[in-house]
Amino acid sequence: MSDIRYDRLHDCHVIIAPERLHRPDYTAEIREDKKKDAKCPFCEGNESMTPPEIFAIRKTYSIANQKGWKTRVVPNLYKAVKIEAAHAHHNGTFEYWEGFGAHEVIIDTPKHHTSMIQWDINTVSNWLKTLRARVADLRRDHRIAYISLFKNEGKGAGATQMHSHTQLIGLPFIPRPEREKYEKSYEHYIHHAEALLESMIREEEKEGERIIAAKGDFTAFCPYASAYPFEVIISSKKPLGQIDTLSDESIGTLAPLLLDTLKKMDKQLGCFDFNLSLSTPPLQEGSIGNNLLDSVDSVDDACRFTLRIMPRIYHYGGFEATTGMIINPVLPELAARLLRESEDA
Ligand SMILES: [Zn+2]
Repeated sequence: MSDIRYDRLHDCHVIIAPERLHRPDYTAEIREDKKKDAKCPFCEGNESMTPPEIFAIRKTYSIANQKGWKTRVVPNLYKAVKIEAAHAHHNGTFEYWEGFGAHEVIIDTPKHHTSMIQWDINTVSNWLKTLRARVADLRRDHRIAYISLFKNEGKGAGATQMHSHTQLIGLPFIPRPEREKYEKSYEHYIHHAEALLESMIREEEKEGERIIAAKGDFTAFCPYASAYPFEVIISSKKPLGQIDTLSDESIGTLAPLLLDTLKKMDKQLGCFDFNLSLSTPPLQEGSIGNNLLDSVDSVDDACRFTLRIMPRIYHYGGFEATTGMIINPVLPELAARLLRESEDA
């Protein structure tokens, strides 16, 4: 049973989840490209090795929990939080939530692909459509205030399972850094009558130095204050909705830009470990402080869908752990130039 404990000293929450200790470590150092692995619970044909699926994109006439899927979502066997736990908050010196939340695994592809770089465009599109469906479904659960949507690729990024997968953790509150980030976005919109990402991308376009590529309404760039070497953000000036409302047309533009960008990164960095996160604005009204939401007609006005790729090339130490500041030795301008000049693999 897990607890979500409030750390009064650092004004943040910590998930204490003893069950996570028993996760098997399936990672290996090499990139594997097998069609199927007999021992991998995420490979097609091994559906009985996971809990029953919550959602899947399937081939016509295929049956749930059997072969014939393109993406598959199952509850995480080693959950950090549980949807069955009480939605109960306890105040006092030792403040905590009773481990309530959603923890799902999105199995990105039936093949034993160990990297996103091995995917084709259809796999990227189906992956985005699966994330869209899951966030839209969980939005209806009013106990969930915030969803974290991320991929860990490679051991250096925290992965313990090689088969390409994405995780979704839904929480009964908004973690402080995310709450502050969205409050800033709303404040920017109120003062400038445009989204912060819209202002940022326009400035980046003027400078040009940190832009990698653009496709349709989406732009891929290395952010001015990149925390990670070769960090990339893909976002848009135009409001295109959030992960749960992106149109098929937007997904059709985003998928090839993401795949091209990853291939360029792979060419420059070799087989690199990375975290990838997708923006998910707070789900419930009133969950952002100072009634900021009242001043904004819709979340889409102030917030842009954003995908962030964070290569994990270096290990971090005491300075990063105590200050939250990361020392990045690679100039974002240099990273963008190298990525821009990379031929597609
Ligand atoms: Zn597998």
